[in-house]
Amino acid sequence: MPLYEYYCSECNTKFDALRAMNKADDPIPCVKCESLHTSRVISLFAAFSNGTAVVGTGGGCATCGTHACSTCGSH
Ligand SMILES: [Zn+2]
Repeated sequence: MPLYEYYCSECNTKFDALRAMNKADDPIPCVKCESLHTSRVISLFAAFSNGTAVVGTGGGCATCGTHACSTCGSH
C-alpha cells in the first residue's frame, strides 16, 4: 500500500497514512484533532498549485514547493 501524506487545515498538521490507492482521496480524519478538513498532499508543488494553501507551518513561503527554496531558505 502506498504511503500518502495529508494536511489538516484545522491544526496545520501534516501526517502520513498507508492507504489503498483507491482510497487515497477519501476523507481521512486528522491524527491530531480528528478534523475531516484534511487534504492529500500529492507534493508540495501540487498542493500549492491547486490553491489549497499549505501555509501556517511557519518559516515557509509561496515558493517552498520546490526542492530548494531560494526565497526563504527552507529545506
Ligand atoms: Zn488537525
